[in-house]
Amino acid sequence: MPTIIATTLLILLALFPVTGNASDWPLHGRTYDEQRFSPLKQINEESVEGLGLTWAFATGNTRGMEATPIVVDGVMYISTAWSRVVALDARTGKLQWSYDPQVPGEKGRDACCDVVNRGVAVSGDQVFLGALDGRLIALDKSTGKENWSVQTTDTSKPYTITGAPRVIGNKVIIGNGGAEFGVRGYFSAYDTESGKMIWRFYTVPSEDASEDDAQPSLRAARATWPQNALWESGLGGTAWDSFAYDPELNLLYAGVGNGSQYNRAVRSPGGGDNLFIASIVAVNADTGKLVWHYQTTPADSWDYTATQHMILTELEVLGETRKVIMQAPKNGFFYVLDRATGELLSAEKYVPANWASHVDLETGRPVETEVADWSDQQRYITPAIVGGHNWNPMAFSPDTGLVYIPTIHTTYPFTADPDFEFNPNTMNTGEDYPDLVRNMPAIAPGFCSPTRLTAWNPARQEQVWQVKFNDGVSAGVLATAGGLVVQGTTDGYLAVYRDTDGELLWRQQVNVGIMAPPISYAIDGEQYIAVVAGIGGSQGGHFTNLDNRNPGHVFAFKLGGKAEPPPPEPRHRTIHAEESMLTEATAEKGQDLYAVHCLRCHGANAQSSGVIPDLRYSTSEVHAIWKQIVIDGVFASRGMASFADSLNEEDVNAIHSYVIREAVRSQDWGRRAGKWLGSQVCIPAEWVAD
Ligand code: CA
Repeated sequence: MPTIIATTLLILLALFPVTGNASDWPLHGRTYDEQRFSPLKQINEESVEGLGLTWAFATGNTRGMEATPIVVDGVMYISTAWSRVVALDARTGKLQWSYDPQVPGEKGRDACCDVVNRGVAVSGDQVFLGALDGRLIALDKSTGKENWSVQTTDTSKPYTITGAPRVIGNKVIIGNGGAEFGVRGYFSAYDTESGKMIWRFYTVPSEDASEDDAQPSLRAARATWPQNALWESGLGGTAWDSFAYDPELNLLYAGVGNGSQYNRAVRSPGGGDNLFIASIVAVNADTGKLVWHYQTTPADSWDYTATQHMILTELEVLGETRKVIMQAPKNGFFYVLDRATGELLSAEKYVPANWASHVDLETGRPVETEVADWSDQQRYITPAIVGGHNWNPMAFSPDTGLVYIPTIHTTYPFTADPDFEFNPNTMNTGEDYPDLVRNMPAIAPGFCSPTRLTAWNPARQEQVWQVKFNDGVSAGVLATAGGLVVQGTTDGYLAVYRDTDGELLWRQQVNVGIMAPPISYAIDGEQYIAVVAGIGGSQGGHFTNLDNRNPGHVFAFKLGGKAEPPPPEPRHRTIHAEESMLTEATAEKGQDLYAVHCLRCHGANAQSSGVIPDLRYSTSEVHAIWKQIVIDGVFASRGMASFADSLNEEDVNAIHSYVIREAVRSQDWGRRAGKWLGSQVCIPAEWVAD
């Protein structure tokens, strides 16, 4: 009987209470080393069958939810879509306070990958938030009232913040995103009390070399860019998510993203490695001065960011114990570096990768293959743009010595735009989106995206076990001293696996898809596991198959938990478009325009997961005011900004025709198949890389 086991364990736990430190989840990765490992073990292989939902909190949004909850002294602090914050009683889920920074809806257009936020930082009596519009905000921890707010970005440029701040002493560290549109990357330290900037580290040079006196590391970086670099794009290199900190070395590690734009032949026509894009940089936390760097993908041309989660630990390497930093960046190689010096210790493929044969340990560089260069022909390159691993954090168990990585196994046809010109109002990746859409292979019914939970031995650089999913998103991971690995799924389960062999021990359906990483904490001797739910982001917006309305939630589980999950909220799909509305003459033009301006949010082939509306199911009212929406921006407050800077009335009519055509086609397919294929928002079979 699970309850008997649970009760026994509760008694045992009362006798051996967990320490105060182990009870909280005070930092983004629980500790500065970002291991995402909970030392709690009340929930373990024996007791886990008694695990159940104990409370659910509805956040009131239906966009992507990516936050790591912070739990300090019995209170849970969560950020939701649109950079809102709630403080909850971590025992009951009861709301203590909420805060809305009132990010303008128009700002949604600058978000490459949904209006997500990956969490707050808590330190002293303050909560720190990075808002989508570039503000860094300090809140009073007990009331949620604003203490100070500072604009960390140039508001004339499409900068966004989606990452969680990190606090080190009196400094709060924050980066930003926007490389796909064209911005210059940096991260900064602000004073926790005053909000005053203490230092800033630019990840790429600017055209103005006089800046190098203030940041000497830019001199070394500048030497890796040509004079004719695409300066107006800002060059990218945004540090939009990953940080780790070693207090002994006083080194702050930052993961740096891709260049702007992707195609290096255009971004950097004179060649060069393009530092510090796609790199891990280690800076002195007091001064922001560079101590070492390691570039995972020199001259990146594939959106192979090194912004993925980094973990610090000690490993035996050739019989010697080394302090290491580990990362599984998008490029498909798992890296182990000496974190004091940046020396590369090992690198092996953790997913299929065809762009490089191996990493040369002498030079520290990947050896590119002949398929890597897509500058003058379309190439299927693995991993895909989403990477072998994206923002969803991995976890490390010091008990098993394994890293648990949410992996993605896909390939992607990189297609260069031969007529590329920088345009500040669109994505600037250098890809030919109209060509990509025109030649997109058919989407396989019922087939989504191969994602996996991969257990990796970092010392031996080899896979130990793997669990396979047919999901668009491989969710963030938690490891615990109870011998468990915890991960959510796109189709609404929270699942628990044995850490040694990946056997499924327990799962519960909560009726909302999960992509965020779970956490664990304890209050009065009871261990909880909590996670935020809600699909979205770049993967969840496109390559998923959501049949529900995606209501954002926070879920908490404990032994003996008996709460009911929210009922499923089916998504109703009705096509209001009719053949008579078609003006086929412009649909082809509309398809090309859609590919450039609409695809990244509303989905390829006019099919989305529905997190951002699938336009085929537009209501009659929306069809009637199509032009007012796209040109006049009447839905701007909901995130649909005006495109008057990019599209005229004829363009908008053409896009409308294209969407109507796709809607009518979906209806025909559905009729023929005897069911709706409209919800199939997966990937073509050709995009699988097993
Ligand atoms: Ca990117």
